[in-house]
Amino acid sequence: MDYDTRSDDRVRHPEKAHRPDNPVRRGKPKWLRVRAPTSADYRETRDIVRQHGLNTVCEEAACPNIGECWKLRHATMMIMGEICTRACAFCNVATGRPAALNPMEPANVALAVQKLGLRHVVVTSVDRDDLPDGGAEHFAKTIGAIRALNAGTTVEVLTPDFLRKDGGLAVVIEARPDVFNHNLETVPRLYPAVRPGARYFHSLRLLADAKRIDPAIFTKSGLMVGLGESREEVLQVMDDLRSAEVDFLTVGQYLQPTPKHHPVDRFVPPDEFKSYERAALAKGFLLCSATPLTRSSYHADADFAKLQQARRKTVAAAS
Ligand code: SF4
Repeated sequence: MDYDTRSDDRVRHPEKAHRPDNPVRRGKPKWLRVRAPTSADYRETRDIVRQHGLNTVCEEAACPNIGECWKLRHATMMIMGEICTRACAFCNVATGRPAALNPMEPANVALAVQKLGLRHVVVTSVDRDDLPDGGAEHFAKTIGAIRALNAGTTVEVLTPDFLRKDGGLAVVIEARPDVFNHNLETVPRLYPAVRPGARYFHSLRLLADAKRIDPAIFTKSGLMVGLGESREEVLQVMDDLRSAEVDFLTVGQYLQPTPKHHPVDRFVPPDEFKSYERAALAKGFLLCSATPLTRSSYHADADFAKLQQARRKTVAAAS
């Protein structure tokens, strides 16, 4: 069961409205079934998010992990509004013309992080192709505001690709996030169908450039499986990511949000995820999280501690 906790009934994907339906695959296997979010902590997290007028990818993407994550107060902030200028075939975030940036948003995110008591926060955004810098400056301000109010909190950003926004990446990296994440999402062959507004090699270069600008930063990327990719293609993407010196890979099952979205090709069983994890570690990633319910920000707090530990081990082994 997926959870969409918003109550509005706007047309979220006008660009997909006239496309034929892709029937949503029934009979979800037991490893993808989750409990309904009911805990008091879940409700408290939701209240804090609402009080500060924030959007979260947890809700906008109808993430199946929301009950578990919000019980731990782990909400992933989605900045720059709730309307995306891209129209990816896998994504449930609403598409259209976004509103102007809210100058108070960085401060509001920082306050929410303080109230939630987060040791590690993940900040992501919609794509803002309409802005001259793709929203890079707003990311930098948000990182700065979080740091100013939450001295011990580590910050992870999951950014758009800043395609045709020269200098955008540098602005974000110079704000010194602890983790820079940009998802490749799928294998290059499926880009035209799944991620038509993006370019595989541009995304790869973005990750390589982030490490080049700040070699101390942790870089991270994610893939969805179950979209029609082959194992060989996934292994090739891992090699590409390693050549861009990416440290951390996440791999999770794609779930189709609505009949207008890309169909699920298959439900990948848990032992295949284990095998992807083994392959990734053998290829030199410091860390790989590969399970059916893995998402970019799933367990990001605990995984950041593991990343630091893995780097310390690698440095110690090399000295
Ligand atoms: S996995 Fe990420 S997006 Fe999903 S509920 Fe958890 S924090 Fe939110």
